[in-house]
Amino acid sequence: MSLKITGVTTTLLRVPLAQRTITDSQSRVDAVEFMQVRVETDGGVTGFGMNWSYTPGLRAAQVMVDENYVPVLVGQDPFMRKELVRRMFFTNHFVGRVGAARVGIAAVEFALWDVASKIANLPLWRYLGPARDRVKAYSTDGGWLSWSVDELVRDATRLVERGFDAVKIKLGRLDPREDYERIGAVRKALGPAIRIMTDVNCAWNLATARYWGAKLADHDVFWLEEPMPPEDVKSHAELQRSIPVPIAVGETIYTKFAFRDYIESGAVRYVQADATKLLGIDEWLEVAALASAFNLPIVPHTNVQQKLHVQLAAATPGAILVESCYESLNEIWVEPVTVRDGYYTLPEEPGVGLRLRDDVVQKHRVG
Ligand SMILES: [Mg+2]
Repeated sequence: MSLKITGVTTTLLRVPLAQRTITDSQSRVDAVEFMQVRVETDGGVTGFGMNWSYTPGLRAAQVMVDENYVPVLVGQDPFMRKELVRRMFFTNHFVGRVGAARVGIAAVEFALWDVASKIANLPLWRYLGPARDRVKAYSTDGGWLSWSVDELVRDATRLVERGFDAVKIKLGRLDPREDYERIGAVRKALGPAIRIMTDVNCAWNLATARYWGAKLADHDVFWLEEPMPPEDVKSHAELQRSIPVPIAVGETIYTKFAFRDYIESGAVRYVQADATKLLGIDEWLEVAALASAFNLPIVPHTNVQQKLHVQLAAATPGAILVESCYESLNEIWVEPVTVRDGYYTLPEEPGVGLRLRDDVVQKHRVG
């Protein structure tokens, strides 16, 4: 079958959170930006891709798509995905090999996968080849840094009552003793059977991470996420040698080469690769294969792109969990995935499934 791309369009949205404003150690979040990409083909199949950010500035990725990638794509065969990604990538050589440049490419790449899996008439996970037919979830939706201890305990308890047996709590208060006490209060309320993950969002230095990271073991913490800036592989390796709590990183790691450095130096135990930060699904699969060869579990990071990562996890033997976050944004998608009794259900409609509802696009469009 031969197809040609006849047009590529982008739309930028800013969608307010329906829940109260939330914070981690770096950000205050009251809205999420989305860029939707539509790839039209002469076969009548339309591919939908998107990328997202809860920090402002996704317009930079939109400019990349509109000015650099559309000229590469129009008139080409959408099945030549890897070649098209290579060509798009080199249009950025002097303006950004990571960050917005990749975020834009990933959005297009998802749309190309969407075309291919729709033509195969299969949902992405079945198209890739499943390792499982349901995916275990853990929740980040109750652990925000701005919550009081009472709110933390109440929300974590509510999530466990809904069927989650693993919850993540944000760390990075100005005084780390407060972090320690907050985790202690949640552990006391939930009991020993529930897994508690922690996430610093890069706020600590090595001295703080070594001292307080070690003490988290008192509360049987399952992992310590992004303790320090992600560029500093060496400090993460030193930290992991000195504390028993496993380190999780990946949500702000943009290349397979950076993942290689983390994995090879023993600086990560839970690999949180996110296809929206890499060059898309193909590079995510490469990182997953790398992690597998080092016998490390993959736990995809997701904020709003659960439907994508649930499907990648279903097709990846070493993917043990997928994050559940911003559940209040579920309704913006055409056919969202949801969690029941601690597990995601997998979609059955053909394609990647990252299509935002048309009325949501109209209502929240900013560019
Ligand atoms: Mg995180």
